[in-house]
Amino acid sequence: MSDSKINMVDVPEGYEGTGFFATKLDTVVGLARANSLWPLPFATSCCGIEFMATMGSHYDVARFGSERMSFSPRQADMLLVMGTIAKKMAPILRQVYEQMAEPKWVIAVGACASSGGIFDTYSVLQGIDKIIPVDVYVPGCPPRPEQILDGVMRLQDLVKSESVRRRSSPEYQELLASYNIS
Ligand code: SF4
Repeated sequence: MSDSKINMVDVPEGYEGTGFFATKLDTVVGLARANSLWPLPFATSCCGIEFMATMGSHYDVARFGSERMSFSPRQADMLLVMGTIAKKMAPILRQVYEQMAEPKWVIAVGACASSGGIFDTYSVLQGIDKIIPVDVYVPGCPPRPEQILDGVMRLQDLVKSESVRRRSSPEYQELLASYNIS
């Protein structure tokens, strides 16, 4: 830091050190969490192929700290649901979500995961938010890798702006209760 910048800091009277900065715990934790979101891909069909492209070197997901895929729910922060979710599969998805440790976030990638898409039929879940809370919806059929990355960046913004206590807040617990998740 240049001398001019150091001088811009409001130094308390009597302080003789070389400089310091102050921040909030929420900001530091949010920054760390947002830049180390480990994805768990729950891919069932075509949108999953776009995710495979997203994970390729061309799009370089490592820029966002999300290159480390986790196939264990215990070691994942960000559940990406991609593709058609049949109602018979819904309990499995729900179980995977419940096995993830807090804090955790969910992205619905593509029309099928977000709303059932073109499969408006008795056997298909009409959106994963019928069974688990969703933080970000990525539109498209399928969304391009750039859109999936945009979804990750939107989630990063959300994570950075969250309080570390949000997950234990009464509002969040109420939300989970509405899904019968404890
Ligand atoms: Fe396939 Fe379109 Fe559904 Fe994605 S949204 S899984 S591309 S049908």
